[in-house]
Amino acid sequence: MNTRIEKIIAGNWKMNLGPKEAQAFMTELRDTWTKALSERTRTRVQSHAWQLWVFPPAVTLHAAQEAAQGLPITVGAQNAHGSPSGAFTGELSASMLAQVGVQTVLLGHSERRQFFGETDESVLKRAEGLISQKIQVLICVGETRAEREAGKTGDVLLSQLRLLVSSPVLKAAFESGQAHLAYEPVWAIGTGLTASPEQAEEAHQILRTEIREKVSPQAAETVRVLYGGSVTPESSAALLSRPGTDGALVGGASLKPASFLAILENASKGC
Ligand code: PEP
Repeated sequence: MNTRIEKIIAGNWKMNLGPKEAQAFMTELRDTWTKALSERTRTRVQSHAWQLWVFPPAVTLHAAQEAAQGLPITVGAQNAHGSPSGAFTGELSASMLAQVGVQTVLLGHSERRQFFGETDESVLKRAEGLISQKIQVLICVGETRAEREAGKTGDVLLSQLRLLVSSPVLKAAFESGQAHLAYEPVWAIGTGLTASPEQAEEAHQILRTEIREKVSPQAAETVRVLYGGSVTPESSAALLSRPGTDGALVGGASLKPASFLAILENASKGC
């Protein structure tokens, strides 16, 4: 039986934590698990209603998977190329990730869009390739500070969603829980600035409404919409207590087991 996912707390390690550090991370997390988490939170995670995901760098995947054995943690990848194979030096294909047991991949992070030229088109292609390998995707969208200040947040989010909600592959994935979204305002990533719970809720509502209208009511129910951008143990309870905020994508504060688990525990207190 598939448990319905209620919340996802995901850690984006970016270009941090090599294999040795990942082993140490998982060891510390395992050792502190019971002390850091209340029984209520542990039950939620163990039943898979609340999910804990981490996205290590590709070279760290194997070590993180091994070290996480027995822990209720999903180890995912930070990206995948949209083509099945070929002359794409430095890239990884969806089928390669499937071969090493990856079940979830982060896509369209603003750092990928900003520094590596990824576009809505390439994000769609990557997502379709991964879904065809039965790999779940978490797709990031979000506005820049200038776009927010110009009152364009809604337009930007809808335009980043446009190709996704017109793809039959993605439509089916939103309905079946194979595709989720992370609202990550670019101005909040790594800056210490966090969107207010109301700002996050408003953005999530825009995304979910579009999914309802362009895909289906079922997809709007199933899709999880996470907030990302300088989430800390202090901010997680208020953010995750808002209706329609289905989790958090955490960068800096996910690199230490203590703060990652504190985010999970505090988020659980807020719900
Ligand atoms: C991120 O990288 O997705 C992120 C939200 O980073 P941070 O939490 O450090 O702002």
